[in-house]
Amino acid sequence: MKIISNPLELKEYLKDIDKSVGFVPTMGALHEGHLSLIKKARKENELVVVSIFVNPTQFLKGEDLDKYPRKDEADKKICLLAGVDVLFFPHKKDIYGDDEAKIEAPNVRGYVLEGATRVGHFSGVLTVVMKLLNIVSPTRAYFGKKDAQQLNLIGLMVKQFFMSVEIVAVDTLRESDGLAMSSRNIYLSSEQRVEALKISLSLQKAFGMVNQNILDVSKIKEQMRTVLEPLEVSYVEVLNRDFAPIESIELKNSIILVEAKVGDTRLLDNIWL
Ligand code: AMP
Repeated sequence: MKIISNPLELKEYLKDIDKSVGFVPTMGALHEGHLSLIKKARKENELVVVSIFVNPTQFLKGEDLDKYPRKDEADKKICLLAGVDVLFFPHKKDIYGDDEAKIEAPNVRGYVLEGATRVGHFSGVLTVVMKLLNIVSPTRAYFGKKDAQQLNLIGLMVKQFFMSVEIVAVDTLRESDGLAMSSRNIYLSSEQRVEALKISLSLQKAFGMVNQNILDVSKIKEQMRTVLEPLEVSYVEVLNRDFAPIESIELKNSIILVEAKVGDTRLLDNIWL
């Protein structure tokens, strides 16, 4: 496995490689969820590139940038064992200069849900993803459905900027009790870990209601909020795959999304129906 931190060196290395390239961008502290993206990339491409970069521009002032978990050595081992060909490990100065052009998230989709409370977050995400995709020029790039809004906005950017990469959406990997895997789960105390289960339980409740043919979104949201009590809920939303709100579940075209705070930790989860 090659480890490269300089973007121009990576571009140079990939320039003459006549192979399909699968790319998995991450912020490190790798877990099984990340690994499922890497495995899929490994299966579908001749060469696999993983990046680890805790992107400062997607953190708001007062968020957890400084204490975001960093596990560089363990991450390198995980990538090596997973058969990653190139690990891109840039420093901040390799990615950002002083006076920067940036991608602005779309006015509507970028500023609802997570974007409503984390104003500017998705502009930071899109800017770094644009940079990373330009550095790697992959055939396919892999993103988790867990970050559904991020995935949707990246798909939109790729389409609207006429980029050639194929965006591949990967299912959410969960702990055996249902909690969606996340690098931020390590912030949870054992009591909070139990409380956090309410998030996936609320989605299971919604799933059960849909199975009983209860498709009315306001009823579903109400029941979900009951399951989520007493967590501080940022939103419970039901959208179609184009990210527009709907009043009744449309099968094969709906996403139910939740964001709630457990202690100081903001956790996201969703199901795709
Ligand atoms: P992060 O390091 O949190 O920025 O995540 C890197 C990529 O892994 C993103 O595309 C995430 O959506 C994806 N990801 C994070 N958690 C999971 C999970 N539990 N299952 C599948 N993909 C995930």
